[in-house]
Amino acid sequence: MENVIIIGSGCAGLTAAIYCARANLKPLVVEGKLPGGQITTTSDVENFPGFPEGINGFDLTWKMRQQAEKFGTRFQGAHIKDVEVTSKGIKRLILTEQCEPMQTRALIIATGASPRMLGIPGEKEMFGGKGVSTCATCDGAFFHEKTVAVLGGGDSAAEEAHFLTRFAKKVYLVHRRDQLRASKIMAERVLANKKIEPVWNANATAILPNAEGHVKALIVKDTLSQQLRELAVDGVFYAIGHHPNTEPFGNVVPRDENGYFVTLTDSQVLTKTPGVFVAGDCADNNYRQAITASGMGCQAAIEAERWLV
Ligand code: NAP
Repeated sequence: MENVIIIGSGCAGLTAAIYCARANLKPLVVEGKLPGGQITTTSDVENFPGFPEGINGFDLTWKMRQQAEKFGTRFQGAHIKDVEVTSKGIKRLILTEQCEPMQTRALIIATGASPRMLGIPGEKEMFGGKGVSTCATCDGAFFHEKTVAVLGGGDSAAEEAHFLTRFAKKVYLVHRRDQLRASKIMAERVLANKKIEPVWNANATAILPNAEGHVKALIVKDTLSQQLRELAVDGVFYAIGHHPNTEPFGNVVPRDENGYFVTLTDSQVLTKTPGVFVAGDCADNNYRQAITASGMGCQAAIEAERWLV
């Protein structure tokens, strides 16, 4: 029986772990498919306080992990399939792996969010190694002197497009409107970059393969004229937002129409189930920043500590 299990090892989960560990709760962090969370796929984090020169996303969470470990946090790789709450309030975590359920008094869910996809022809077939990617930091170097397209108009799309110009000779930024959603500083940076060509009012409709099954073109449809256009590209990077990773927990914490956890009024982290707390992008459709995720992780840990007393 654990005092507190924290599911997720991004900024929210790791900050919760630091606080729980310093409160001597000996937390167990269940790391998911992407240890360190989404920020590990970001190149330069320029807005996390304390790093005036910026910091690589992987390095930032690695430091948080070390800090959590230093105070006694334990880590385990596992995937949760379901959660049950017993009549005594014990949370039983059912794993996808063939092993005994985990049991804990308090549970902090910090499972983050996953990249949104479009479901267009070619996307699945060429994902992961054949030119379709959701992570410029991970895959950008494969596109040295090539042409790529980035889908989306938010901060992620702007950041990915800008980052990809380190390698690619040309980057199309394909956005469904004629104005970027990205913050002013990011939008200005992108629009000033001569290697980036915005493709406005355009929806991606298909990705075409070459003879080897790698990306050779992206088909986009103009939202005004409905005309199709073929962009000759070697890679397509998705940056059209995320959906929260909340499915296995729907029976203990209610979710809204977009799948985000619903918390009690006046709290970002308290849920209707006593002893179950949420933090980070799985419960935040508004700010979605590393620092706000960390803030929620801190709140969740303090609430868990109070609840356990
Ligand atoms: P986002 O802000 O939700 O932007 C998603 C973009 O994808 C929007 O431009 C949206 O178009 C487009 N989109 C969504 N669904 C689409 C679809 N089905 N087809 C075509 N386009 C679609 O997501 P994000 O850029 O990942 O950013 C998430 C949060 O993280 C934001 O709060 C952002 O500020 C933050 N962030 C910050 C940084 C940083 O500060 N360094 C870096 C990355 C992200 P519309 O604009 O038309 O809705």
